[in-house]
Amino acid sequence: MLITFDLDDTLICWQPETPTEPVKLPWHQKWFPIEPLRYGTVDLFRKLRNYGWQIGIYTTSHRKSKYIKKLFNLHGLELDLVINQDEHEKIVKNLKEKRKPSKLPSRVNSHLHIDDSEGVLVEGQRFQFRALIVDPLDSNWTKKVLAESISVTQMIEQGCYRT
Ligand SMILES: [Mg+2]
Repeated sequence: MLITFDLDDTLICWQPETPTEPVKLPWHQKWFPIEPLRYGTVDLFRKLRNYGWQIGIYTTSHRKSKYIKKLFNLHGLELDLVINQDEHEKIVKNLKEKRKPSKLPSRVNSHLHIDDSEGVLVEGQRFQFRALIVDPLDSNWTKKVLAESISVTQMIEQGCYRT
């Protein structure tokens, strides 16, 4: 089972109201351009791993995969997969549809994609992938993600997974 997360306004939040994970850079990495990881991410990833999920990033940003993995590594987190805009373009290149989706997590076997954009939810209905939308200001966001991941797990186990 793979869960994918959007980055901007989902896991990387610059809103002053949104708390972020503390991080202490080792002296030899003080140059690293760190971005604010949303508070709750570390605990959420640990719980998802315990429930048997692999974790990936699916973003429309051009950040390099190496940079994204490093950003999470600084918080002790591993990523199984990173799809950035360049990778995404390869994925949708051969799609027949004129209006291509901004994301297509089903193509990387993601069972559940987490995003802040309602547009992605609509794309999920058009292109048959499962999405959960969380607001960057929602302080209950990790509970929502966990609850949804549990119901997806149950659906998969019972052989009735739906997008
Ligand atoms: Mg976003």
